[in-house]
Amino acid sequence: MYDIFILKEQLASPKQVAVVMHARPDGDALGTSLALALFLREQGHSVHVITPTEYPSFLSWLPGVDSVVIAAHHTRETLLAQIKEIDLLFCVDFSTASRLDEWAYLLKRPDVFKIIIDHHTEPENFADLLLWDPKAAASAEVLFQIFEALEQKEKITLSVATCLYTGLVTDTNSFKNPNTRPITHRIAADLIEYGVDPFRVQWLIYDNKPLSRLHFFSFAISQRLVVLPELHVAYFVIQKDDYKRYDLKSGDTEGLVDYALSLQGISLAAVLKEKDEMVYLSLRSVGDLPANLIAKKYFNGGGHKNAAGGISHLSLTETVDRFEKILKELPFNF
Ligand code: 5GP
Ligand code: MN
Repeated sequence: MYDIFILKEQLASPKQVAVVMHARPDGDALGTSLALALFLREQGHSVHVITPTEYPSFLSWLPGVDSVVIAAHHTRETLLAQIKEIDLLFCVDFSTASRLDEWAYLLKRPDVFKIIIDHHTEPENFADLLLWDPKAAASAEVLFQIFEALEQKEKITLSVATCLYTGLVTDTNSFKNPNTRPITHRIAADLIEYGVDPFRVQWLIYDNKPLSRLHFFSFAISQRLVVLPELHVAYFVIQKDDYKRYDLKSGDTEGLVDYALSLQGISLAAVLKEKDEMVYLSLRSVGDLPANLIAKKYFNGGGHKNAAGGISHLSLTETVDRFEKILKELPFNF
């Protein structure tokens, strides 16, 4: 299915490898990167795992997470020194350089063989090998099929399987999103046969929250939710001060958007977050409404049809105004 011979050849002898995921990583980006790193280390390769920015605290139990380098905690010089000798660079769960934010310079290594493992649409042409399937529910699904094509499925350890299962669970919203395919369930079943405890994984991800998170969600639902029934839209506006007030860390707003989408009659939900002199947008849609096209056209972003994201350099109020204006003028049928 993939150009697996090229990958096989690249991995035939022990290599120095770096695995890079996108900024503000989710469970699929971190889980798939760690699954790959753990798998490659088992085969005798030396592997650095790099995330541009911090990973969410609800993923801090993932096997191998302690070895992850957070680029934002290093200078450009020390980061580059750590990966000076690498032969291979894997880009996991992204295929556009902009998803590395200011760390896109990590891709500027003409001497290094680059491999993309991803499932986002419209990949850029910066890699030597593209292992990519836009129909896959998660990058974890792509990586599992790569292991299969390499005829190395039997080398999947419990830790590797747990990381992959986490990618499947988080990118499908517990197998609820329409990106979930029969093969997604088949891979999940295989991973459970490798020893993954599906209940424990879901518990660690979703049911292990500090009370402050529930307080924040309660505050957001009562104070920060805007509902536009005539447009079938509901969105949250999270201010910089809210982050301080609830001591929010990276990933702490994850799942909030689903409350807006769970409302009766709502087809498009969003969270607009004011952070680091920017506004980050998280979009979710129902049915054929293309959240990724809205993100791409208006917010320099992208993603999948029903789950997408982007950024705005306007102020929060200006972004909200623009967002509403765009919604009112949308050519799409709700
Ligand atoms: P989330 O709302 O969970 O942050 O992101 C949902 C999906 O939108 C992600 O899986 C990713 O595909 C996409 N996405 C989020 N932010 C961006 C962005 O800034 N650029 C692009 N191209 N895609 C994004
Ligand atoms: Mn993904």
